[in-house]
Amino acid sequence: MEISKCLVCPCNNKMYKNNNTLKEHHHSNIHMVWEYPRRIKELEIQIKRYENNLAHEKRINKLLMNQLDKLEEFHESETNF
Ligand SMILES: [Zn+2]
Repeated sequence: MEISKCLVCPCNNKMYKNNNTLKEHHHSNIHMVWEYPRRIKELEIQIKRYENNLAHEKRINKLLMNQLDKLEEFHESETNF
């Protein structure tokens, strides 16, 4: 009974006899259409994560560039004497 529970696809709540029939179902249009918006959502989450990482790296980059500018200014003022 517990094994059969695992072989129900959430897209249609139908039971599948074994892994092979379930896999076959996963390649069917009905399942793909059901899965499509979920995949899009997953991709959107991934994109958001990349965007956040990129924004974070840009902030660090800006911080380092500012520090570099300050060091250069300091160096210039030191060599002007
Ligand atoms: Zn399905």
